[in-house]
Amino acid sequence: MQRLFEMGEASALLKREVAGEFPDARGRFGPYGGRYVPETLVPALDRLEAGVHRWLDDPEFIAELDAQLSEWVGRPTALSYAPTLSARWGAKVYLKREDLAHTGAHKINNAIGQALLAQRLGAKRIVAETGAGQHGVASAAACARLGLPCTVYMGAIDCERQAPNVGRMKLLGATVVPVTGGDQTLRAAIDEALRDWVADPNGTYYLLGSAVGPHPYPLLVRRLQSVIGREARAQMIRQTGGLPDAVFACVGGGSNSIGMFHPFIGDESVRLIGLEAGGRGPALGDNSATLTMGRPGVLQGCYSMLLQDADGQIQETHSISAGLDYPGVGPEHSLLMSTGRVQYEYVTDDEALESLSECCAAEGIIPAIETAHAFTGARKWAAQHPGATLVICLSGRGDKDMPTLQRTLLKGKL
Ligand SMILES: *Cc1c(COP(=O)(O)O)cnc(C)c1O
Repeated sequence: MQRLFEMGEASALLKREVAGEFPDARGRFGPYGGRYVPETLVPALDRLEAGVHRWLDDPEFIAELDAQLSEWVGRPTALSYAPTLSARWGAKVYLKREDLAHTGAHKINNAIGQALLAQRLGAKRIVAETGAGQHGVASAAACARLGLPCTVYMGAIDCERQAPNVGRMKLLGATVVPVTGGDQTLRAAIDEALRDWVADPNGTYYLLGSAVGPHPYPLLVRRLQSVIGREARAQMIRQTGGLPDAVFACVGGGSNSIGMFHPFIGDESVRLIGLEAGGRGPALGDNSATLTMGRPGVLQGCYSMLLQDADGQIQETHSISAGLDYPGVGPEHSLLMSTGRVQYEYVTDDEALESLSECCAAEGIIPAIETAHAFTGARKWAAQHPGATLVICLSGRGDKDMPTLQRTLLKGKL
C-alpha cells in the first residue's frame, strides 16, 4: 500500500485528523486540499466558506435540515442485518441502506443540505454538474422541493448515455444544458458549471456533488454526508451492543465513503476500507482507481491523488459504474490513505457484477454497481477474518443500472 509520509509524520497528521483539525484554516487536510482556482472564484468561495461556518451549526438551520431529512428524504435509513450473506461469508454482515433514501442513493443528503444553505446565502438559482445524472437528479429534486430554479450541466456524451436521468431532471423542473466542449463528460460539465457560477457568484449557488473541489466543498459535503456514519454507528450500538470490526464503502469522488467513515475515524478498533473501481485491470486508462494507482496533483481546484500519465496529463478513466468513473478523489481520502487510517483497494468490473448478483439473490436487494464494489471488498475481507462484524454502506439502488445489467449479467438470459 502506498504511503507518502514518514511514520512519525503520518501519526502526527492522523492525530490532528482524529482531533477534527482538518481542514485547517487554509482548507488543507495535511498537504492535500486547498484552493487552486482563478482569482475570479476566490470571493465566491470565501462567501461560501463564511456561509458554512455561519449556518451549519446554527440550531434553526439544523432543525430545518433534520425536518427535510426525516419528512422528505426518509431518514434515518435502515441498518439491515443480512442473514444469507452472513452465512455465506462466515461473518455478521450489516447493510446501511442509502438505497432507501429518496431518489435512491446517498446523493440527496448533500443536495438538500446545500440547497438549504443556498437559500440562506440569498441565492436565486442553483447550478450543478452531473456525470451519470444521479447528482443532477438529486439536485433537481432538492431545488423543486425548495422552489429554486436549477440548471444542470451535463456532458453531451453523458446526456446520450444517461437519457432516462435527463428525463427525470426535466420532469423535476430543471434545465439541462448539454456540454459539447472538452471531453463532453463530467470534467467538461464541472468546468462549465464553474463558469456559470463566476458570472454571478452572489445570485447563483454552485451545488457540487461529491467530496471534491476547492475548499470549502470537501468540508461541506463531508458535514452533510456524515449523517450516514452517525446513524450507522448509533444503529450498530443499538442493534448489536457494540461497534463493527470493519466498515466498507465504495469510493468515486468519495462522498458516501467519507460520510460513512468520518464518524468512525476515532474508533481505533474499527477498520475502514474503501473500494475503488479497478475496471478492466491495472493498465493506465482501464480503471478509475485513483488512490491505489494515482499520484498527487491538481484537478478542479484541489490538490489530491490523481490518475495522470508521466507528463502529468489527466488520464482517461474506465469503470462499468458511471458514478466511480472519475480521475480524481476527495483530498481527505488522500490524507486518510497516506496516514494508513483507511485502507483502499480496487475491485474489477467483473468482480463487482458478481457481487451485485450475489446480493440480489441472497438479500432481495438490487444494489447500484458502484455499491457492488464495496460488497466484493467486504467478502474478501470476511474470508480473512472469520466471525467478524461488518457494515457495508449500500450507497444506492441498482434500478438505474438496468441497461448495463441487460448487456452484461442478463445477456442471453431474457
Ligand atoms: C455517485 C455514486 C457513488 C460515487 O460517488 P461518491 O461521491 O464516491 O459517493 C457511489 N454510489 C452511488 C449509488 C452513486 O450514485
